[in-house]
Amino acid sequence: MMKAIQFTKGDAGNMSLGETNKPVAKLGEVLIKVVASAVNRADTLQRKGSYNPGPGISPILGLEVAGTIEEVADDNQSWKKGDRVMALVSGGGYAEYIAVKSSHVLSVPPNLGLVEAGGVPEVWCTAYQILLTIGKLCEGESVLIHAGTSGVGLAAIQLAKMTKAKNIIITCGSNEKCQMGLKMGATVAINYKEADFKEKTLEITNGKGVDVILDCIGASYCEKNAECLALDARWVLYGLMGGANIQGDLLAKLMRKRASLIGTLLRSRSDDYKDDLIDSVRKHVLPGIESGKLKPIIDSIFDLKDVSDAHRRMEANSNIGKIVLKVIN
Ligand code: NAP
Repeated sequence: MMKAIQFTKGDAGNMSLGETNKPVAKLGEVLIKVVASAVNRADTLQRKGSYNPGPGISPILGLEVAGTIEEVADDNQSWKKGDRVMALVSGGGYAEYIAVKSSHVLSVPPNLGLVEAGGVPEVWCTAYQILLTIGKLCEGESVLIHAGTSGVGLAAIQLAKMTKAKNIIITCGSNEKCQMGLKMGATVAINYKEADFKEKTLEITNGKGVDVILDCIGASYCEKNAECLALDARWVLYGLMGGANIQGDLLAKLMRKRASLIGTLLRSRSDDYKDDLIDSVRKHVLPGIESGKLKPIIDSIFDLKDVSDAHRRMEANSNIGKIVLKVIN
């Protein structure tokens, strides 16, 4: 048996530490002894019952882990017991042990602690995917990143800087968040509670607009986002924190700008897609973390038993960067 967070649909208070069966690694998998996981918005949605895992996916919350290899299921693998690793998972992270496809596992760079590493896989894979694989941001282009100091936003800012983007424009809900975004490499930070991000973005880009928009807000920003698109821009929709229902002439604006609106979800992607993405992160992100050029930003660390407080912090929009959950081991 192992300890894991169990929940019933509803409030953050509906989660508690309980006992469940310890998973068994199947062929091609490794068993990880978990040191840390982290909170993602998707966990809060799943807890409320609006983002259920697909068939065959663990019902336990948690999309990322870091820890040590406890067991390898077969000899045909590069991992060995005791290796320091982190992994992107489709569920099951808020627990003492997790079985993971071995190709979804990454080495933890020596300069990164295992607790910090618990907050790396989900946001860095997401940021890499939306900015580079899908958004295809190129050197010299401009990008608009909403929720700039979210876990994903802070990773995306740093990847945009690494790509040598010309304008890295972010939106945030406080001046403290704006300062943090600028520190991590944003060229302009707009406090959306004090300024109009559409006007600012057009002013900064001399009316041209941005080549890529990373949008996890959706409906409430839709009209302004459409005005911020440059010709041939890529608008990547990866969250709906501001709602899903829209009205107006969006299609006409997209057509006039020859722009693409691309929706994406990472959890439901195929194993092969995740293999490729994780491989890209292994090649292009981990060396940056190891050299100190890319920095995982930790907002706070909670013991796993205090997961309700961790979810409340995220739902109050209080975090700047990742909320990590330390698993008792
Ligand atoms: P996070 O750290 O919790 O940050 C989210 C931030 O968004 C909040 O702190 C808040 O910051 C801002 N925000 C919340 N509601 C807003 C609203 N209605 N309008 C404007 N800003 C709002 O988030 P995260 O875990 O990094 O995730 C960020 C987003 O990415 C979420 O929507 C999540 O679902 C999505 N995501 C998608 C995928 C995918 O595969 N599609 C994968 C990972 C994450 P301010 O104070 O600045 O407003």
